[in-house]
Amino acid sequence: MVPGHEVVGEVVALGEHARRFRIGIAWLRRTCGVCRACRRGRENLCRASECTGWSQDGGFAEYAVVPEAFAYVLPPQPSLATRP
Ligand SMILES: [Zn+2]
Repeated sequence: MVPGHEVVGEVVALGEHARRFRIGIAWLRRTCGVCRACRRGRENLCRASECTGWSQDGGFAEYAVVPEAFAYVLPPQPSLATRP
């Protein structure tokens, strides 16, 4: 298991049905979507959940795969250039 519970990266490939580019992966990586907790919007309590850096490779891995519903758009990286 590769550690790292939150991921920031560049999308290098999309799954067949993926439509959006996403570049952030949070701790909660996947849930079942059908249990009582998931249906109530409390996915963090899903007993079948998978977590980044715990049950799936984390942010220090070279590549990661995440369901589109659990990936997040991040704002552009701010410039580190100094003001003129
Ligand atoms: Zn569930």
